[in-house]
Formats: sequence, C-alpha cells, structure tokens
Amino acid sequence: MPIKILDKETINQIAAGEVVERPSSVVKELVENALDAGSSQIGVEIRGGGIALIKVTDNGVGIPSSEVELAFERHATSKIKTSHDLQSIGSLGFRGEALPSIAAVADVEVVTSADGEKSGTYLLLEGGAVAKKVGQARTRGTTFTVRNLFKRVPARLKFLKSQNTESSHVANVVSQYALAYPEVAFSLIIDGKENLKTSGQGKLLDAIIDVYGVATAGKMLSVDSSQQSWTSDQGALDIHVAGMVGAPELGKSGRGYLSFFVNRRWVNSRILSYAVEEAYSGLLMTGRHPVAIIDINLLPDAVDVNIHPAKSEVKFRSEGEVFRTVQKAVRQALTAQMPVPRIDDVTAPYKAMPNYRLEQLWKESASPASHTPSTESQSPLTASLPVLRVVGQVLNCYIVAEGPDGLYVIDQHAAHERIRYDKVLKQREQKQPEVQGLLEPATFDVTPRQDAIMRSCQEALAGFGFTLESFGERTYLVRTVPAMSVNDWSGMLKELLDELSGEERGKWEEKMVASIACHGAIKAGQGLSDDEMRSLVRQLEQTANPWTCPHGRPTIIKLSAAHLERGFGRTG
Ligand code: ADP
Ligand code: MG
Repeated sequence: MPIKILDKETINQIAAGEVVERPSSVVKELVENALDAGSSQIGVEIRGGGIALIKVTDNGVGIPSSEVELAFERHATSKIKTSHDLQSIGSLGFRGEALPSIAAVADVEVVTSADGEKSGTYLLLEGGAVAKKVGQARTRGTTFTVRNLFKRVPARLKFLKSQNTESSHVANVVSQYALAYPEVAFSLIIDGKENLKTSGQGKLLDAIIDVYGVATAGKMLSVDSSQQSWTSDQGALDIHVAGMVGAPELGKSGRGYLSFFVNRRWVNSRILSYAVEEAYSGLLMTGRHPVAIIDINLLPDAVDVNIHPAKSEVKFRSEGEVFRTVQKAVRQALTAQMPVPRIDDVTAPYKAMPNYRLEQLWKESASPASHTPSTESQSPLTASLPVLRVVGQVLNCYIVAEGPDGLYVIDQHAAHERIRYDKVLKQREQKQPEVQGLLEPATFDVTPRQDAIMRSCQEALAGFGFTLESFGERTYLVRTVPAMSVNDWSGMLKELLDELSGEERGKWEEKMVASIACHGAIKAGQGLSDDEMRSLVRQLEQTANPWTCPHGRPTIIKLSAAHLERGFGRTG
C-alpha cells in the first residue's frame, strides 16, 4: 500500500483509543472540563454502566455559541496558547483531545450558555460530525450528554466489564474529584438512583464523610506540612503536602483508599503510594494498606503532566524530594497523634537520664541513691524523636540517620533494647504478656543455687509468660515462654537466675524486664538491611523514651546542624 495521511475520522478514532478506554474515562474528561470551567456544582448521571448514557451538567463559564463546533476539533483548546505554556499547566485539560475523541466513539449532545450571551446553544454530533445546531435557552453552564458509547467500536465494547463494574469505575472517578474539590457540590445518579452527593462546603472532612462515611471520617488525621524548600541542581523547589490520612486501625486490604492529587489533578503514582505506605511502616499489620487523601502542591513547572494521553500520570522534576516530603508529612501526622507528649524543642540530652516510667513502677523498691529523678525537669524525658531518614549503617554497629535539624547516630543494640523493653513493660503493666507455647514441653535443669531463686521467683516469671512446673530434682518442665524470648529463652533464663541471686528481691521484676529486652535484641556487629534499619528507627520513634536504653545509656547521639556548621567554621 502507498503511504497516505489518514482521514480525520480515523485519526480521531485512533486518538480516542488512548483517551477513552471505558465509560469512566468519558466521565473523567467531562468532569475535568467542568472543573476547568470554574463550576461550583457538577451533576453526573449514567445509565447502563455509562454505555447507554452519560450526562454531565455544570454551572461553569459555558462555551460561546461561535466556539461550540470548534471545541470538538482535534487540538482545539482554550487552556494553552503556545508550547511554552506546556511547561506550566494550571488547568486540568490542555490537549484539546477529549471532546473530539468522545465524539468519535459516541453520539454527543451539548447544551451550553456562556456569560454575556442572550441565548444558549444546542449542538448534536453523530459519528463525529455536526448533525444539528440551534439556539436553546439555558442558565449559565454546560450539559454534555453522551449516548451509545463504542457503538461504532465493537472491539472496545466487547472488552468492557459488566455494567456494575463500569458503574463502579464511574463512581470512583466522581468520588476522587469530590475529595479533590470539597468546595464543589457533586452529585452522581446511577440508573436513576442517587449514589453520591457532596455538600460543596469546602472542608475536606465533609467530602470524606460524603464519600467514605462518618466511621472512616472520624478516624482521619490532618496532614499539613509546612512548606518544604529544597535546593537541587535544578534550582529551588517548594513542596506543600496537605490532606488527611487514616489512623492505622483503618487499615484496608487493598490500595483503593489511596488518593493522590498533584495540584489537584487526580493521578496514579506508585512513588506516592510507596511514600505513604512507608510512612505507616511498623504501624499497619502486614497486608494492610492505609486510607489517605493527599494533595501535593508545587509550582506547575516542577511537574510534567504531559506524559500520558489520559493525563493520569505525572513526572516530578525532583522525585526524591517529593517522596521524602510526602513520607515525612504523613509520618509526622501519624506520630503527632501518638499518645506520647511531644515538646517542640528536641534538644538532644545525650547524657544518661533517669528512667521516669521505671521509677514510677518500682517506686517502693528503687534505691533513691542510684536514680535521683529530678522530676521537675520532665521535658527531656518526654522528648519524642523527630522523623528520621535512615542514611546507612557504620561499623555494623550504628545507624546514621538524617533528622530535620541535624545528624543522628543510633546504637542499634541499645535502640532495639529500648524498643523491646518498652514492649515488655507495656505487656507487664497491662498484665497481658505475649505468651508462646512450646511445641513440646521442654525440661530445664538448674544448679542448686539457681533452684533456690527459681522457687521464689516462679510466680513472677509466670507474669512474663513462663509456665514452669517442678519436675523432679532441680528440673523444671517449661510449657510456655515469653513470645519475645522464644528463640533463646533457656539462655536468657539461666543468665537471669544468676543475676537475680545477687540482687535484692525488690529489683527482680525490673531485672526480668531488662533481661527479656536484652536477649534477642539486635547485636552490635550485626549487618542490617535498609528495611531492618528503617523498621528499627520507626519503632524507636514510638517509644516513650527513645533517647536512652533501659540501663540509662544513650541510644542516640545527635549532631545538630548548628553544631556541624560551627565545626566546619560556616558561621560567625
Ligand atoms: P481541553 O480540556 O484539553 O482544552 P477538551 O476537548 O476537553 O480539551 O475541550 C475543548 C474545549 O472546550 C476546552 O478547552 C474548553 O474551552 C471547552 N469546554 C469543554 N468543556 C467545557 C465546559 N464544561 N465548560 C466550558 N467550556 C468547556
Ligand atoms: Mg478537557
């Protein structure tokens, strides 16, 4: 065949293949147009999964009568003028492709009335060509009616799923835009029944109530990062992250509750999903995914939206910075709601500190000489950790991390001990030890000296999850052990019995907690994967006293940005 340029109808059908994948794509394009037109009310109605009918009504600026036909020409748009404008797109549309694409695969009717015009316009297109144009009265705004979708593209029709599935895709599109634009009142009617109605009051929480219901809305936490400024080799970049995320207990079995908007454009982004899920690490059960509605605001030139005909994917100029900002903002929102009192000034007290919680628990038995808690100055004790970004491991012993205000070096063993210690202590306080039954009861032999201790501390050990029965001379039968010590319970118990023999009785429980915490903790010299380090740091962030290990030694040494600056002579 000789080479020929295709006719207009074929060109439009090819383009339509990319833009209009299914009924919900039509709804998305028409809703985006309505939003670009500045509407405060957008009504969507569909029938038969959107194949029989899609109707989108808005109260936006309307299309002047003289331009209505033009709007259906390929590459006809009122939103950009030159290629230069592509660098900073402020509208949802800009390709001038949606209307001709929709008209190429369906029958389209439009009634529109623009500001300043006496009468509105009615236009009918069949097979992509204008079939009728007359004047028709209408209040300001536009109504698109799309019928017989894919009638002329049977291959596409066959590819569609059931009407219910297609309707649910439409409901999702409308829901997403309802979440992105709380100030717009959306309504959706499916086969004559109201499916969604939002108030358009302007509050995200209201939109969440309308879309997800009050039970979910009641467990949402606000995300609102202060503007983060980064300077990279491509220049300065300001990123602002806002929205709401669900408390960890709202965990869902799929990723369907993750909504991302970039400058209020609904986008799919694996990077952003990953950033949010990362922020929840250690908080959600495995296999669970968070609820999140996140809008990322950056200058239009910091993001390229022109990489996909459906405009549903974007490319960030500085992906890493966006990732980190989102992750931090979400993490901060989550940790700020933890029941740990926060103080704003996290001045690192890297000298050993008295352990306040312990002090309370063993008030009666603690020797005042060794602890001397000056409880007036409680602030360093309750200072929580800022969100840290793990940089790496050094000497197989320390984790190096970056915080908002400097460098943090974390002793991996001490940190893990602190995490485990808090866990045991909590189980102890709640009288709910996590117990692990042994597959088969094991025998445990003790020395006479240990035996004496054992007899008097058996009950206390039971409080931590040990079920021990006397089993002949200096032998015990062990049925259950603390879940946290399951891998080395016998080594732990032996050492503990020896330690207890030299201690006064009042301190036994304290010793037990410390011993369980220490045995099974990550050791110095142990190589850690990135994931292991991140998980450790996340858990440490959540402890009540992350700065010291149970023995009062520091877990973290902080080098503040100011300290670094002084050290390098950058100030003064
Ligand atoms: P794009 O949105 O990329 O500009 P479309 O094919 O979706 O391309 O729309 C073409 C033009 O039609 C738009 O640029 C706009 O001027 C006009 N238009 C479409 N829908 C509406 C609407 N609901 N209200 C006002 N104008 C509209
Ligand atoms: Mg458009």
